[in-house]
Amino acid sequence: MIVTAPAPTTRPVLVVPYPPTTGTEPCRTDPEDWFPEKNPAALARAQLGCAECPIRIACLAWALAHPRDAAHGVWGGLTPEDRTSLIATLAAPAA
Ligand code: SF4
Repeated sequence: MIVTAPAPTTRPVLVVPYPPTTGTEPCRTDPEDWFPEKNPAALARAQLGCAECPIRIACLAWALAHPRDAAHGVWGGLTPEDRTSLIATLAAPAA
């Protein structure tokens, strides 16, 4: 009888630290807009602020790598639904 080891089931750990901030990022000045719930005007303000933020890409990378910590609110300009969709797209096997 030949016994083979099971295929590894663990995925590599992605270490993405939160980027250095200055405290002047748009979300720091009016944080309520970054948790807009069902307020389309607040969501639009948050996404506009993120679009102008100098650490947007690093912020989004952190949020994608930490879905539990970033389960709510707008991070890097994306809503939780946007991030879930993006993570699924990135995790899908290449065609
Ligand atoms: S990109 Fe991140 S740090 Fe910048 S405003 Fe948006 S949520 Fe805040």
